[in-house]
Amino acid sequence: MSDPQAFSDKGNFIDNKWSRSGEGRTDPVVDPATGKVIASVTSSGKADVDKAVKAAAKAFGAWGTASPATRAAALHRFADAIEADADNLIALESRNVGKPLAIVPGEVEFLVDNLRFFAAGARTSMTQAPGEYLGGYTSILRREPLGVAALIAPWNYPMMMAGWKVGPALAAGNTVVLKPSELTPLTALRLAELAADVFPPGVFNVVTGDGEHCGASLVAHPKVAIVSVTGEVTTGKLIMKSAADSLKRVHLELGGKAPVVVFDDADLEAVVAGVRAFGYWNSGQDCTAATRVLAGPKIHDELVAALAAAAESIVMGDPDGEGVELGPVVSREQLKRVDGFVKRAARKGAEIVTGGAIATRKGFYYQPTVVAGAKQTDEIIQREVFGPVVTVQRFTDEAEAVAWANGVDYGLAASVWTQNVGRALRVANAMQFGTVWVNDHGPLVSEMPHGGFKQSGVGKDMSVYAIEAYTELKHVMIKTG
Ligand code: NAD
Repeated sequence: MSDPQAFSDKGNFIDNKWSRSGEGRTDPVVDPATGKVIASVTSSGKADVDKAVKAAAKAFGAWGTASPATRAAALHRFADAIEADADNLIALESRNVGKPLAIVPGEVEFLVDNLRFFAAGARTSMTQAPGEYLGGYTSILRREPLGVAALIAPWNYPMMMAGWKVGPALAAGNTVVLKPSELTPLTALRLAELAADVFPPGVFNVVTGDGEHCGASLVAHPKVAIVSVTGEVTTGKLIMKSAADSLKRVHLELGGKAPVVVFDDADLEAVVAGVRAFGYWNSGQDCTAATRVLAGPKIHDELVAALAAAAESIVMGDPDGEGVELGPVVSREQLKRVDGFVKRAARKGAEIVTGGAIATRKGFYYQPTVVAGAKQTDEIIQREVFGPVVTVQRFTDEAEAVAWANGVDYGLAASVWTQNVGRALRVANAMQFGTVWVNDHGPLVSEMPHGGFKQSGVGKDMSVYAIEAYTELKHVMIKTG
């Protein structure tokens, strides 16, 4: 099942079986490391989406009222099935996204841990205690599932982002229709096959296709109760507008532009190691990527030189190559987009300290790049590049560092590097970001929420707060007197 062709032309996965589309349109699936087409999958339209949503709506009756223990047991079995199938999933994800093989096992481990956390969470629903808040009445709070959840995933972590959505939605008692990115549908289809052995028909459905037809039909479908999307800010805005027509709930995990605020007293070796790892991780295609370094006035020059040396030491190559750390970006379009950002920054006067060009090899590879001297208002500072490109700006004092860190539309994640505990806490408190790391950048854990401030989104992934996002509170008030 690690052969991409095994998923070619099979259709969607609805009601625990393959379901061919009546419309006959397909999307090519491309290996970013070679540029070659490796499979073709259904490009679903309105009728396909309708079939999947109807199956999910039908299954909701029984799944929504199943005991928490039943839902938890199924999620545990799903996690076990993924663990047992890890080699297949790793091979598919690496081939479809171009991820170095070495980084994907960690994603599967995290996905399995997320699902086990959500399985446990299915049994721990939290509300205010029942009581007599008004004389003569007893009030009870119920946390109820919403119904059919439309889950729309991005291409940078197709399998893990699917898990962050499917886990809490199913734990809370919803049924789901998952739409992976049209660029990276393979692991979602494999997850659906594994889910078929675990969940009743209709509980977990997958439709493949693009945003314009398939995604938009899901968002507009009257039987969908909540839309959860991870993607770009522009996509989130479109979906929020469309969902407003029927006042659907929206859960939006959008882009980021994480600042890495490095004070003069920071441990520079740790900073360089952190940015080398998390600025270029997944080819920089990470919503929390450590790509916007703000450096103290005394260490700026030393840090720029050390980051350039670190970037030059990153091993680029075939995803299955020995010791390879950096693979391609996901598509030719993304490659051109990344290069466009860097070229425009250079034209505006920024210094390309290292890299700055499309790599001369097959596939969609970009050289690990360091850009210095860009201005706060420049596009490369203000917009998400989503490639292996790190910028460094020199700040003069703490107030300027905080103002620049917060001076973007995004607010997903940030890091602060200093030996001064008071400053670390003061700056962390002043940061308008959903996650702030101190003296590190990147680690996440299933128990803690992940989500954006400002235009990085609405709602949280992971943690009990993710499960709550897929529920509605109901107040039942009983007259006792
Ligand atoms: P994208 O916005 O292009 O696509 C995301 C998904 O939305 C895809 O499945 C796409 O088909 C679908 N879509 C597009 N237009 C749609 C529409 N009109 N209606 C319904 N669905 C539509 O994003 P991408 O390029 O796949 O992913 C990269 C983006 O995701 C980056 O901005 C990144 O920062 C963000 N991201 C955020 C998080 C987070 O936790 N906040 C995590 C990972 C990625």
